[in-house]
Amino acid sequence: MDEKIEKYMAHLQGLVRIPTVSSVNDEHTDWSQFEKLHDYMKETWPLIFEKMELVEIGKASLLFHWKSENPLKAPILLMAHQDVVPAGHIEQWSHGPFSGDFAEGAVWGRGSEDCKSVLSTELDAVEELLEEDFRPSFDMYLSFGHNEEVQCSPDKKGSVLAAKYLKDHGIRPACIFDEGGNVDATREGKLLALIGLAEKAPNEFVLYKDGTGGHASKPGKGAVLGDVARAMSAVESHPMPYRLTPLAKAHLKALSPLKEGKEKEIFSHPKKHWKELTKIAENDRILDALLHTTFAVTMAEGAAQANVLPSHAEATMSVRILQGDTVESVKKYLESIMPCGVQVKVTYGENPRPAGEAEGEIYDLLSDTIHELYGKETIVAPNLMLGGTDSRNYSDVCDHIFRFTGRVKTEKWGEAHQVDEKMPVDQLDKPVIFFKTFLKKYGKLPEKS
Ligand SMILES: [Zn+2]
Repeated sequence: MDEKIEKYMAHLQGLVRIPTVSSVNDEHTDWSQFEKLHDYMKETWPLIFEKMELVEIGKASLLFHWKSENPLKAPILLMAHQDVVPAGHIEQWSHGPFSGDFAEGAVWGRGSEDCKSVLSTELDAVEELLEEDFRPSFDMYLSFGHNEEVQCSPDKKGSVLAAKYLKDHGIRPACIFDEGGNVDATREGKLLALIGLAEKAPNEFVLYKDGTGGHASKPGKGAVLGDVARAMSAVESHPMPYRLTPLAKAHLKALSPLKEGKEKEIFSHPKKHWKELTKIAENDRILDALLHTTFAVTMAEGAAQANVLPSHAEATMSVRILQGDTVESVKKYLESIMPCGVQVKVTYGENPRPAGEAEGEIYDLLSDTIHELYGKETIVAPNLMLGGTDSRNYSDVCDHIFRFTGRVKTEKWGEAHQVDEKMPVDQLDKPVIFFKTFLKKYGKLPEKS
């Protein structure tokens, strides 16, 4: 194995072996694991701890600052999160979820993909720049949240607090990198670099109805649970209308070289072929999610016992709001389709943040860097993230948030949050080279007057 790959792999293994599982409830979090992780980071990337200023944020988030001796342009911020989701059913794993085993060309374990390989490669890149005595003409920040994976209140969220710190100090990065898009090897044999420029806002809504309840031996025409079921059915048969956002349009156009025949034409001119596009979307979950706010009913509840008519019934929905809709407008829409007096309540509400634009100097620099490192033929596609990341909390301090990791995704990946999550190591040098190259190129851009 290449010496560098071996080094990057060992760094990742070390991170994976420390189970930094986050929890909504601070009392349920094992903070000693985060302390261990910080000690490990200090040992592994000593120059970062020595040369960069460290601000501790919230319970366990870290914000590093590399002060330029001669700052001529806006800073750059690299992000990743330190926490992971629980392992789930341990007996289902082929290798221990926190073993960090190297097998079949990959490092196995919870967090190997999400997000510790992003964390380790960013740290490796910056540590190497420090080793090489790189003198940036801009300040650099590293921001590592400790509770990305849980939906906690904003006053506890590491990324919210770190963004507030930047805002309070008047710091506006030229761009931010975070988890999200990778360079995918497509079925068509091309490389596709997906740059997440926005994400849908994750929300939780509840459909509910109260009634009198009673004995299940005298149900009459039924109980409130049936009405809630009719409401669930109404939601599924009345999806919000499809819309083409500027980002969705840019995304489809960018993907068109991967398509053939009629589909190529549709993706190239989505507006012109709107009817055909929406026909495809009806049977394509990803395209469907790209074009409207989605509702997924995930939990339902009635009485606690089989012989009791429920006096309260409810169904919980995961609602992913697309740019252009708001919590308020979606609630109104749902209320307009509710049957039988079923009501709608928002239990977690968050409006979508504006999408970044796939143009401008810094986006062009990103695109050029990708073509230089991954090949001229690589397709660079702006993307809408369907899942969430910490970076959306930085929308107040930065207009160019790139959810892009520089990692190359091959069929050997074990997906995030699943059993047998794993990260192939043969391409682990790519993100390190990517970040170093991008930062050096940014340093050489002429300053703006
Ligand atoms: Zn993640």
